[in-house]
Amino acid sequence: MVSHLFFYQLVLLGLLWLCVMLHYVWPNECARGDQRPSKPLPPRKRSSDPKPFPGLTRKPPCVACEQAHAHRPQPPGCPPPRIVPMRGRPRQVETSCHFCPHANCDYRGWLGLGNITSNGHPSGGPWRQLHCTSCGGYFQETHGTPLHGTRVVPEKLVWAVGALAEGLGIHAVARVFEIDPNTVLAWLVEVADHAVAFSQYFLHDVRVTQVQLDELFALLSAVKAGEVSDAEAIQRLSRSPHWVWAAIDPITKLLLTIDVGDRTLAMAQRVVHQVVQVLAPGCVPLFLTDGFKEYTTALLTHYGQWVQPARWRAQGPMPKPRWVPLPGLLYAQVVKTVRRRRLVDVKHRIVFGTLDAVQQVLAVHGWQINTAFIERVNLTIRQHVAAVGRRVSTLCKHEAGLRQQLALYQVYYNFCLPHAGLRQALPQPEPTHGTGSARQGRPQTPAMAAGLTDHVWTLREVLLFRVPPWPQPVGV
Ligand SMILES: [Zn+2]
Repeated sequence: MVSHLFFYQLVLLGLLWLCVMLHYVWPNECARGDQRPSKPLPPRKRSSDPKPFPGLTRKPPCVACEQAHAHRPQPPGCPPPRIVPMRGRPRQVETSCHFCPHANCDYRGWLGLGNITSNGHPSGGPWRQLHCTSCGGYFQETHGTPLHGTRVVPEKLVWAVGALAEGLGIHAVARVFEIDPNTVLAWLVEVADHAVAFSQYFLHDVRVTQVQLDELFALLSAVKAGEVSDAEAIQRLSRSPHWVWAAIDPITKLLLTIDVGDRTLAMAQRVVHQVVQVLAPGCVPLFLTDGFKEYTTALLTHYGQWVQPARWRAQGPMPKPRWVPLPGLLYAQVVKTVRRRRLVDVKHRIVFGTLDAVQQVLAVHGWQINTAFIERVNLTIRQHVAAVGRRVSTLCKHEAGLRQQLALYQVYYNFCLPHAGLRQALPQPEPTHGTGSARQGRPQTPAMAAGLTDHVWTLREVLLFRVPPWPQPVGV
């Protein structure tokens, strides 16, 4: 012990001597009197420019990417030739939105090839019977939709689903329409599957310049309804809290994706993956999120590339390649500090790209860095999705139930609900039939603004839409 102490004292003395000597010997830099090399340097002033991202040595994995390649619907080949009817009177009923569902038919799944004729309403039923002239098969116009094979009056189902989409809980819908809650749940399950296919069919190759992402905390109804004790609820929530994740394009207000899951990297990966699926290839928009740190990795996964850094010296080992963000990727965070439920501070952080580039994208619309649009949508989701909102008596106790309501809501929001902020001004005001003032604008839905459809869909239209099994060629 003593020898150690002595040794350290010797070293200290030696260092002191060295300092004093250097002070005299050093020509310029050390000549100033305040220089004390033993003290740590004062922290450097941070420049306002963000440091360039150094890159990762491994590409972050995305589970959804690895699974996705398998189940993306692809057409089996080229469409068969068009059938032009040679005899009989011209066809009266429009059948171009129908396709043959029969597995052994060459025309299966193809739209507008002239192989479908209409047969009228068998035994006075509400639905038409359609006929495929290629395979000779018959099918109903509701084939493959939630209205197929139900004995209930179609209007009742459409209205009940409309009530669900407007945010009424399952029990409430059951009471209003005098049906069993389990029937409503069965309808919801059926409609949700249809809604997912519908969204997948229409939402692709969307071009956007901005995307806002957010997570909204969703207390599931079982907890709220008092079916579990508070202690159990807290335990259950801390183990697997449920968050509703949403991504919108703030310009067209299109809800690109909506999902439910934990607040984890895996979930952030999944949401960004779903956004990438909807966007056109090569489309790299500006991303705006809150301060949740896992978005950075999730975005980097889908918008990154390998680069080979240059050598430090002419000789020496080649440095490892780095996974870096694409040159065009812009990503900014809005970091809010909330103390006692009050917003005390908002900070903007540029993660990828430069502040100038981000502001340039926003300036087109006269905006600042913000996540206001997605926060507004979050509020709407609370109002329209019973399991997320304040109402408690829904059957959606499980994550899957919530996902079904969200799938329905996504279609309803994108295709059926005209958005007040998207109203198209008419060149000339149109007179209305009644005594009201002239119409100034045309209602527009987010899907119309994004160029995915040309009209406001009714829920009945959505439910009756037969989703083709694969994307159809443009212009058919
Ligand atoms: Zn056929």
